[in-house]
Amino acid sequence: MNLILLGPPGAGKGTMAFKLKEEYKLPHISTGDLFREAIKQQTDLGKKVKSIMDAGNLVPDELTSALVKEKLEQPECRRGFILDGFPRTIPQAEALKTFSSIDKVINFTIPEEEIIRRLSGRRVCRSCGESYHTEFIPPAKKGLCDKCSGELYTRDDDTVDAIKNRLAVYRTSTAPLIDFYQKEGLIENVDSSPAPEEVLNILKKILDSRN
Ligand SMILES: [Zn+2]
Repeated sequence: MNLILLGPPGAGKGTMAFKLKEEYKLPHISTGDLFREAIKQQTDLGKKVKSIMDAGNLVPDELTSALVKEKLEQPECRRGFILDGFPRTIPQAEALKTFSSIDKVINFTIPEEEIIRRLSGRRVCRSCGESYHTEFIPPAKKGLCDKCSGELYTRDDDTVDAIKNRLAVYRTSTAPLIDFYQKEGLIENVDSSPAPEEVLNILKKILDSRN
């Protein structure tokens, strides 16, 4: 089963990728991990990635696609895989089509207010880096870290304005991909506002009934 996961920041894509990986014993492939792995192993592609990233540039589509291709050819991907963060662009989606076939593209949808609620409540300890959430993982004492009593703060990324901005960027860049896979008949929209276990059940129904 070859899957692609799409979803805005705060939609819980990472959590669901993890749950799907456990449930179906499929490798979870994220481009960030692929870059790190290739650099560490000093493969030819890894060396190229490193020099591009060291220069502060974005890894181009062809190189990213080549890394994904290399990964999908590994024995561990023979039974399928979960792609997370790839493809990100139409050229990447077109490249993917030349070396793999996709069974489903799961598009996590969630109301913007819910994303803001999830992300804007995040707090991080200034001293030890521990994460909290004002609503879901509150510290024992408001504004203070349970572990080290350090001051909790809101990262610049997690202010309401920054979140709205990230969502706008996401929508603009992902809309063409959703169109692309809609035309291929592969998109499954899944509302990820419910609790993770419930979302997993919805996904299992979709995935187990395919074909
Ligand atoms: Zn702390």
